[in-house]
Amino acid sequence: MSLPIYLIGARGCGKTTVGQALSQALGYAFNDTDHHLQLTTQRSVAEIVASEGWESFRARETESLRAVTAPNTVIATGGGMVLAEANCRFMREHGQVIWLNAPSDVLAQRLEHQPEAAQRPTLTGRPIAEEMGDILRERAPLYRQTAHHEVNAMQSPERVVEQILQSLSLARA
Ligand code: ADP
Ligand code: MG
Repeated sequence: MSLPIYLIGARGCGKTTVGQALSQALGYAFNDTDHHLQLTTQRSVAEIVASEGWESFRARETESLRAVTAPNTVIATGGGMVLAEANCRFMREHGQVIWLNAPSDVLAQRLEHQPEAAQRPTLTGRPIAEEMGDILRERAPLYRQTAHHEVNAMQSPERVVEQILQSLSLARA
């Protein structure tokens, strides 16, 4: 039995893409807190926030984190998961935490290239690159403090997976 691996970082850093590949490489299960939230509520993040507000959304996000936590599982977390200190403590205590770090312009570019269906409106209506800069300035210290390991997320997904395996000393010979 091995501890869960939590992937943290801003939207677009590759938590879902890398998480799925990492879970396959390790023979682990994969789970995604945003996806879990949508399945259990049958609503999108935007809908939950619109009807219940951010505070309620954050509480539900914390519940999702706890619900998906299991051994031998790679867990992609929502970009704002680190905003609650209790979530950060929970992840550090229950598993290994990896920050996928990339600069805001790269993240914005990736999100702009996503298919229409996967796009979400920005929180403020400002250009996504600007908004992403502000989000990272606020959250980078939280991601850094929470993570056991930081990985450069600007490499190919395959390289990111390799680096995670190396940093966890799970690399195969
Ligand atoms: P997250 O789950 O962190 O929001 P995703 O895995 O959904 O991020 O990736 C966001 C977008 O960026 C997707 O279109 C994905 O194909 C692309 N992407 C993810 N990781 C990389 C990478 N290492 N290099 C280039 N593009 C990537
Ligand atoms: Mg994702």
